[in-house]
Amino acid sequence: MFSAFTLHYARLPERFYEHFDPVPVKAPELVAFNRPLAEELGFDLDAFDTDQAAAWFAGNTVPPGAEPLAMAYAGHQFGNFVPRLGDGRAVLLGEVTDRQGRLRDIQLKGAGRTPFSRGGDGRAPLGPVLREYLVSEAMHAMGIPTTRALAAVTTGERVVRRTPEPGGVVTRVASSHIRVGTFQYFAARGDIDGVRTLADHVIDRHYPELREHPEEERYLALLEAVQARQAALVARWMGVGFIHGVMNTDNTAISGETIDFGPCAFMEAYDPRKVFSSIDEGGRYAYGNQPGIIQWNLARFAETLLPLIDTEQERAVERATKVIEAYPGQYEGEWLAVMRAKLGLVREEEGDGELADSLLEALHAGRADFTLSFRQLADVAESTEGRQALFELFERTEPLETWLELWQARLAREDVDAATIATRMRAVNPLYIPRNHKVEEALSAAYQGDFSPFETLREVLAKPFEEQPGREAYTLPAEPSEQVFRTFC
Ligand code: AMP
Ligand code: MG
Ligand code: MG
Repeated sequence: MFSAFTLHYARLPERFYEHFDPVPVKAPELVAFNRPLAEELGFDLDAFDTDQAAAWFAGNTVPPGAEPLAMAYAGHQFGNFVPRLGDGRAVLLGEVTDRQGRLRDIQLKGAGRTPFSRGGDGRAPLGPVLREYLVSEAMHAMGIPTTRALAAVTTGERVVRRTPEPGGVVTRVASSHIRVGTFQYFAARGDIDGVRTLADHVIDRHYPELREHPEEERYLALLEAVQARQAALVARWMGVGFIHGVMNTDNTAISGETIDFGPCAFMEAYDPRKVFSSIDEGGRYAYGNQPGIIQWNLARFAETLLPLIDTEQERAVERATKVIEAYPGQYEGEWLAVMRAKLGLVREEEGDGELADSLLEALHAGRADFTLSFRQLADVAESTEGRQALFELFERTEPLETWLELWQARLAREDVDAATIATRMRAVNPLYIPRNHKVEEALSAAYQGDFSPFETLREVLAKPFEEQPGREAYTLPAEPSEQVFRTFC
């Protein structure tokens, strides 16, 4: 069933990883499998066999052609540098070439203790496995660059977190698992050759257009290219109310994909200071801090590249700093593009940023649900009847009323009919997001052996922009009794 592995990372120097076979589990059972993704990867599904798949996705059998390994990386965790992290519970089986000719990593997460495990058990509880599955696939359905989930298995073993929980393994597909922290690993050791080898690998794999640049420009161009993707990515997160939760440098992918869905969550009532993660006590990774954190992580990335950017250190710092300083403007541009689309605007006008900001202030003042408010605005664009339902989302409506006047005047300058505006708004403002209480509900049912809420939620989230009759409950914010205040990884 597996399409052929073509090994790339495993061909990098030995010090980039540790060879490591996944540790078999007691009783693997396949609980989720992503057929459309498997097809995209070129798997032969006629030959699909559930038991065989369970054995592969649990790591009990190594598929033909794979050379499993744990990747080495370092990282700043909540601002503190750790020179050696690495895959402590994940195993890269290898890369496959998908139907479009792109390389994709196949990684098992929760596959046992590796040489990088430190104090950890190398395992993952079923809850976080299913959360990663649901949320990463939801992000994909919303068109946001992300790692994907190919399969989830239960292991028949218990893992102990706050209490004993059933264990799971998630099979993650990524355009690569190289992180800012991977560069930091070599830089921290003064291993400039390692940084260069990694940078060249990254260029070949993710930024092949940079091969044409002369060597003295190439690595600065790499910094710029990664920065451009990250600025675009975080703007997309902001546009759907996504809070990553653990934006450590080891969780910032060089490819520009969202990676590592730990204590991530979606904001309901708009609040820039919103935090869910139980481990983010200082609010470092709050919703509104995310764009700035990416810049900080990019600065750490830039530091690793300095010896490649210029032979003279001072000049290297100067050149890299200039790039990093351009980030706020780039992010602002990306954010504006996201907000214009959300507001139904295609033309670009000077005051659009302020218009978007004042809507956010109105949302904040009214403690309004971020997702539903934007979705409801499409109805308002189309007819006066939409107003009532919009107002009902707000505890205070005065700022909103003033804002609506401005927006409607702005829409009038779009020179298209209201129905067109509403349609384009509905194509970018999701109706269905992985609401935390719905995710928790699916996970706790799964803990009782009932996977049907998980299945239904998966189905709902696969079509975030389309109205799905009978599924109104999935559009609603949590009732006070259902609210999730803390998420765990
Ligand atoms: P994360 O917070 O998931 O990004 O992980 C940070 C670091 O801790 C990485 O090096 C992980 O491989 C490692 N880690 C997380 N959970 C475990 C675990 N259960 N066992 C071993 N290592 C882990
Ligand atoms: Mg090695
Ligand atoms: Mg991580």
